[in-house]
Amino acid sequence: MEYSKDITIIIPLFNEEESLGELHEWTRKTMIDNGFDYEMIFVDDGSTDGSWAKVQELAAEDPDVKGISFRRNYGKSAALYEGFEAAVGRVVCTMDADLQDSPEELPEMYRMITEEGYDVVSGWKQHRQDNKMTKNLPSKLYNATARMITGIKLHDMNCGIKAYRHEVVKSIEVYGEMHRYIPYLAKNAGYDRITEKPVHHQKRKFGTSKFGIERFVNGFLDLISLWFLSTFGKKPMHFFGFTGLLMFLVGFVMTVCIIAAKLVHQANGVHFRAVTDQPLFYLAILAVVLGVMLFLAGFICEMISRSSTERNKYNVKERI
Ligand code: UDP
Ligand code: MG
Repeated sequence: MEYSKDITIIIPLFNEEESLGELHEWTRKTMIDNGFDYEMIFVDDGSTDGSWAKVQELAAEDPDVKGISFRRNYGKSAALYEGFEAAVGRVVCTMDADLQDSPEELPEMYRMITEEGYDVVSGWKQHRQDNKMTKNLPSKLYNATARMITGIKLHDMNCGIKAYRHEVVKSIEVYGEMHRYIPYLAKNAGYDRITEKPVHHQKRKFGTSKFGIERFVNGFLDLISLWFLSTFGKKPMHFFGFTGLLMFLVGFVMTVCIIAAKLVHQANGVHFRAVTDQPLFYLAILAVVLGVMLFLAGFICEMISRSSTERNKYNVKERI
């Protein structure tokens, strides 16, 4: 494959005007010192401050700077998506715009991809400079869960600074708030050489964080969605059909027991309580109804996945 640059650096930003000048200078210097042919793509995610004016200014004086500006704020995933679409570098990196990440990590990440053959190198903020209670602690818990579900051994899945092999960013589609799980998207696309590199992390110098505590709830829900999509996305009936069948069987067995007990007692001339007088009767109805509903959900999901344009999309590695 032909690449027109060594490195693409994608910087999503939302109201970060104070940081941009310093960030640009620092990144440019690092790239030039290491002899890279690079491009810097600033993606302005609908900033309401002077961020875009600043990007225009930088682009006017530096031909290696490119900019994309959204009409409104769509979120970090959208910004990364547009950056990935535009990227022409052999290695594509992402970095936050708030000066918390250091561009000096990028040359080593580049080397790990081009020489050691990794597909994804994710940063690991070993000494995180954020609020302990609202960020560091929940983040540890969140990462442990993510490791368990995704099977990817990363300490800091959502780290802003990462580097990818060019093909990786062209084979995945970041949407919604899935920027937290790009290594998982990469793994699901067949790129499983994923590693991490401890990175320096600075305190936020200007502005404020754009993500609050709610990101843990939403992040967890997104993780479950991704897990479901990667496991049953192409065969939803295997999930809904199985659980539905199980429920239905449980209900069926209960119903048989209820009727049998009643009939046996009646045949022996023994008075027996009414069928509707026992809890098992209601549990049996519940189980049968749930079973049928799960089954129907399975059929509907099958019809949706059948008409999906993704249904026969495979990541072909080579053809001879
Ligand atoms: N960001 C963005 N769109 C958003 C929110 C954030 O492009 O809707 C950018 C933000 O400008 C920054 C990066 O994403 O460059 C990470 O955000 P932030 O520093 O607020 O996250 P934190 O470091 O606090 O987790
Ligand atoms: Mg930050």
